[in-house]
Amino acid sequence: MKDGDVPAFWRSLGLPGLFDVHVHFLPDNIQRRVYEQFDQAGPKIGREWPIRYRGPHDERVEHLRAMGVRRFPTLPYAHRPGIAAYLNDWARGFARDVPESLWSATFYPEPEAATYVGDLLDEGVEVFKIHVQVGEFHLDDPLLDPVWGLLEDTRTPVVIHAGSGPVGNDYTGPEPMRRVLGRFPRLAAVVAHMGAPEYADFLALAEQFEQVRLDTTMVFTDFFDVDAPYPPDLLDRLADLQPKVLLGSDFPTIPYPYAHQLEGLQRLELGDDWLRAVCWENGARIFGVTRQSGNEFGADDRSPVD
Ligand SMILES: [Zn+2]
Repeated sequence: MKDGDVPAFWRSLGLPGLFDVHVHFLPDNIQRRVYEQFDQAGPKIGREWPIRYRGPHDERVEHLRAMGVRRFPTLPYAHRPGIAAYLNDWARGFARDVPESLWSATFYPEPEAATYVGDLLDEGVEVFKIHVQVGEFHLDDPLLDPVWGLLEDTRTPVVIHAGSGPVGNDYTGPEPMRRVLGRFPRLAAVVAHMGAPEYADFLALAEQFEQVRLDTTMVFTDFFDVDAPYPPDLLDRLADLQPKVLLGSDFPTIPYPYAHQLEGLQRLELGDDWLRAVCWENGARIFGVTRQSGNEFGADDRSPVD
């Protein structure tokens, strides 16, 4: 499948487009450094990773629009203390300029985190992203306790890269998330990359905790199949988790065409209903189809849907 074939993919499913919960847009200076890390196959990357989409922001937004990706976040993440506020200011501007984007933000275990997270929630931020492998922090760092409390109370989703792929370190793996969920059981955690390579452990968390979901980012692609193939014996349970699996792509930081992610999902043969839920319905239900339309978390009626 080529990117030009993407609209035919969602049209054939009867969908209005795609809802992708894992797309990155970063300030130019930071984006450049991320590209450098991938180009050098740095220690946190671990293999050759020739990024395919390197155009300027407006070109990348246009590419998403042309493919029919109707909603997508920007998912900034901090690699050290002291920069989350800068990233969040930038992401706020992006959200203002690109109306269909999901207003995204990040946080870091630092004393001021609860304040800026609380302010962003008051302003209407829609999703957070954190990356423990890059940021080198523990999910159960006590400095994050008030943040988890705020996110749980407001049912605001947070995309968490916690799996040990592509290169694990002291901060990755399912245990810290399990401990956090033990204390904040209604936290709306979205497990990035389905927790690769610890697929079974993170799948179990999604089964156990009502608001935990999995994003498909890079899983089921030829690229991931080399180092972190999805275990075939978990596919039945993944089919059962239909309402909790969300399309994610990692655009633009991918070494293959965007369409290949969809191809990977299609060849699982879990059925058109599953594809419809994953590629559109679940995201639309959780976040709303426009920024103003609200969502199951932010709405006054906070009855769970799953
Ligand atoms: Zn990512």
